[in-house]
Amino acid sequence: MDEFNTEMIKSLMQTDPAAAAACIKEYLEKKNNTPLNIAITGESGAGKSTFINYFRGMTNNDEGAAPTGCTETTFESSPYPHPKYPNVVLWDLPGIGTTTFPADEYLKKMGFEKFDFFIIISDTRFRENDVKLAKAIQKMEKKFYFVRSKIDSDLQNEKRGKKNFNEEETLKKIREYCIHGLQKEGFESPQVFLISSFDLHLYDFPLLHETLDRELPEHKRRALLMAMPNINLEVINKKKKSLQSQIKYYASSSAAGAAVPVPGLSIAVDLTLIVSAITTFVVGLRLDVKSLRKLAHSTGVPVADLIEVITSSLAAVEITPALVMKCLGQLGSVVALMAGEEVSRFIPIIGIPLAMGLSFAGTYKSLNHILDMLAEDAQRVFKRALGLNSSV
Ligand code: GDP
Repeated sequence: MDEFNTEMIKSLMQTDPAAAAACIKEYLEKKNNTPLNIAITGESGAGKSTFINYFRGMTNNDEGAAPTGCTETTFESSPYPHPKYPNVVLWDLPGIGTTTFPADEYLKKMGFEKFDFFIIISDTRFRENDVKLAKAIQKMEKKFYFVRSKIDSDLQNEKRGKKNFNEEETLKKIREYCIHGLQKEGFESPQVFLISSFDLHLYDFPLLHETLDRELPEHKRRALLMAMPNINLEVINKKKKSLQSQIKYYASSSAAGAAVPVPGLSIAVDLTLIVSAITTFVVGLRLDVKSLRKLAHSTGVPVADLIEVITSSLAAVEITPALVMKCLGQLGSVVALMAGEEVSRFIPIIGIPLAMGLSFAGTYKSLNHILDMLAEDAQRVFKRALGLNSSV
C-alpha cells in the first residue's frame, strides 16, 4: 500500500478491524523504509570514507566503518548502509581521476540512476575532473553538491603562528577560493559547503542538510532526516514533528489490533505496536544506549553525565512490553481521554467505532506525551554534550 487508502481502511475497520490494523502497519513500514541512495565521490584521500562514517554516527574505527586512509585499488562503488536506517545507503565511489573513463562513462559504470544525489568532496580546490563530473551529473538530470572537507585542519593551520586570526575571515577566504575556481571552469554561481566530518554540527553541514531537505522530493525527506545525526536543536525538533505526524496511524492500528487492557487507564492497546512506536522515537532521537555511548565517546562527556539529564524512564533502556505497560499505567492520571482536535477529526475519517475510539484517543495522547518527554530529553542530552565539548 503506497498511499494511505482511507476508504479501504474505513470499510475494513467495520468488518475486520485486525485486517485494518495490519494494513495501517504495512503502510507505516513502507513509509519508514523509503530508499535513499547518496553517492559520495572525490579523489582518494579527500575524506569520502570519513564523511560516510561520521554521517552514519560512527567513527573511523567502528565495526562496519568504511576503511579510511587507504589508496584505491579497485574500481568499484561500495555501499555503506546506515546502521539504524538501512534504507539509507551512502555509496563510496572511486575517484574519477583513478580511471581513464570520461565522466559520462564513469557515471554509467557507477549505475548513476540509483542515486538520489551526488556529493563531490575535495580537501583542496575543485579540479577539472570534479567539474567535468558535475557537468555530466547535471546532464543526467541528477543533483550534486560540492563539499570542501577537512575545514578543521585548515583553520588549525591558519591559526598557527597568527596573532590576528579570524575564523570567519578564513572560512570566507576558503569559500571564495573554491567558488572562484569553479567559476573559472564554467559554473556561474556554484555553492560550496565547508565541513569537518569530525564536527558535523559546525560550519556548513547544517546548511547542507537544509539545502538537501529543500531540494529532495517530499517522500525522501523523512529518510534523510531520520538518518541525520542530531547536529542541532532544530534537527531534533524536526525529527519530533516527523515522528509526531505518524502517531495517529500507530494509535489507530493499536486500537484496532489485538488489544490488552492497561491497568489504571481505561484503554485497551496492542502493546507490541506501542513498543515499536516508542522504540522508533528513542532510536530516531538517538536516546538508545548505543547512541548515547557513541556520543559520550566522541564528545568526551561521560555517558553517566548524559544519562543524568534524562528524565523519561523510556530513554537509555531496552523498551519492553512490561516497561511500556508500567509507563502507560503511570500516565493514566496525566493523560486525559478527552479527544484533542486531531483525535476527533481522525476518528470519523478512518471509521473507528466508539469503543475503539476511546482506546485510540488514549493511545494517541499517551504516545504524544511520551514523544514530548523524549524530545525534551534529546535536547537536554544535546546541550549537555555540547556544553563541555564542541564535538558532537
Ligand atoms: P577517502 O580516501 O576519500 O575515503 O579519504 P579518507 O576518509 O580515508 O580520509 C583521508 C585522511 O583524511 C584520513 O587520514 C582522515 O582521517 C582524514 N580526514 C578525513 N576527513 C577529515 C576531516 O574532516 N578533518 C580532518 N582533520 N581530517 C580528515
